[in-house]
Amino acid sequence: MPAAQPSRPGAASPDARRPAANPWSVDLRELGRRPGSMQELERTLPAPADWRVELIGVPAGAEVRLRLRLESVMEGVLVTGEVDVPVTGSCARCLEPIEDGLELDVQELFAYEGSTTEATSEEDEVRRVEGDHIDLEPMVRDLVVLSLPLAPTCTEDCAGLCVDCGQRLDDLPADHTHEQLDPRWAGLAARFTAAPNAGADDPEEN
Ligand SMILES: [Zn+2]
Ligand SMILES: [Zn+2]
Repeated sequence: MPAAQPSRPGAASPDARRPAANPWSVDLRELGRRPGSMQELERTLPAPADWRVELIGVPAGAEVRLRLRLESVMEGVLVTGEVDVPVTGSCARCLEPIEDGLELDVQELFAYEGSTTEATSEEDEVRRVEGDHIDLEPMVRDLVVLSLPLAPTCTEDCAGLCVDCGQRLDDLPADHTHEQLDPRWAGLAARFTAAPNAGADDPEEN
């Protein structure tokens, strides 16, 4: 990094009024406001820390890949495309770590200030163009967080943990059981095991 230029009072840098600190901010000046004009946008950005639900989320700083198309329309800027994010968490049934990814489709309108869409929508119903910029972060965060499962599983049919020993049932033989008879029944059980012919006529025995 070159040394910062000495700041002269009154000589605002061209970026001074831009929210440059936010990498999710997109400058719309190149796109312009002529309906029909389009711009491709590919960015890989670090995930903020709060994209998560209880058991699963996007690791802070993980790469979020955006492949978007910005289209100028009468009412604002239509953003369509794809978002890819890695997610990590733990299985709600067996607590095994989960590493996965989400591939999500986006389609959102950012309304111009003063547009009919903006005027007829509640504050939180529509995203807005802010001056010459749109901020993609709230849009992508909502998309990602709403796609995160509340009860993620390591495999579709994870059998969870053995209630007796706490081991993963998927790691154990299918016939895994524990001989844990209630002591009150122990005497009765002993009588049955001591009588090898008991149930010999039972057609279901094998
Ligand atoms: Zn599991
Ligand atoms: Zn067990």
